[in-house]
Amino acid sequence: MRHFWCILLAIAILPGFCQALDIKGVHYLSLQEVAGKLGMKTRWIQQDKTMQLESAWTKISFEVNKRDMTLNGTRIFMGYPIVASRGRFYLSESDYDHNIKPILTPQLSGAPPGLRHIVLDPGHGGKDPGAENKSIGLKEKALTLDLANRVKSKLQARGFRVTVTRGNDTFVSLENRAQNANRLNADLFISLHFNASSTTSVSGVETYAFTPNLQPSTSRSSLHSSDRKTYPGNARDEWNTLAAYYVQRSLFTSLKARDRGLKRARFTVLRDIRMPGILVEGGFVTNNTEGRNIGSASYRDKLATAIVDGILVYKKTLDRLAK
Ligand SMILES: [Zn+2]
Repeated sequence: MRHFWCILLAIAILPGFCQALDIKGVHYLSLQEVAGKLGMKTRWIQQDKTMQLESAWTKISFEVNKRDMTLNGTRIFMGYPIVASRGRFYLSESDYDHNIKPILTPQLSGAPPGLRHIVLDPGHGGKDPGAENKSIGLKEKALTLDLANRVKSKLQARGFRVTVTRGNDTFVSLENRAQNANRLNADLFISLHFNASSTTSVSGVETYAFTPNLQPSTSRSSLHSSDRKTYPGNARDEWNTLAAYYVQRSLFTSLKARDRGLKRARFTVLRDIRMPGILVEGGFVTNNTEGRNIGSASYRDKLATAIVDGILVYKKTLDRLAK
């Protein structure tokens, strides 16, 4: 009904009235309205295909019908695709709240969390080897443990307290990993993984944050009944997003790896934590070129430095906001 009046008024004299749209229960804001809220300007990069929001510091590119946007060069997957209607582009309000505001206006996210104690979670272990590339001798469980040890010593050198969910080749359930971090009352949880694909040409790095309420995860195209629940991992949505953004940006830029983006999933380890958390996929063991890199200690050290650098930018932002 609102859209009907919008069309009617747009035809008449008030084109500015068409700032919002509702489709299948999802509320959308025009990119002009989003730009206005952020003090940015809109510009067509390609008429009716790609629109950019710009300010002196920030550029965000949106493509029609696409679920990923690029914010200052970093790819971010949204819950809903960009919608075009009558010459305007629309972004879901949920994506504005969960994917743009936490990064560009973190001062509106409430009191920032402290950041002193970090729990590192090397994925897999024991009976669970994780991803493998047998031809070049890679086992995810050994790679994540090595990476965790490298990240740990670099964070400790920066004055952080660090705890790991496993310090050797043992099996720890996903639930216990999260519960251990909760018991320790840690400030940040970082789960470390390497990726696998049946398509061996696939490569690149991605960082996950827990899917916000009422959004489908990146791997799904529509809302599922489980997306309507709120989980402990949702309590820190804004800070999950901010930490994942900085770590993903640091990862693909310093490793010169393919940017597979900030993605969303309801992973058990991220679902149950009562602190901000992210899950890093540091590359594909199934891609022989990237796999050989991951198999080398010097590359894993670079990967560890990239993760720590992302955390340091996150920490700097929290410190600035706490002042
Ligand atoms: Zn894994």
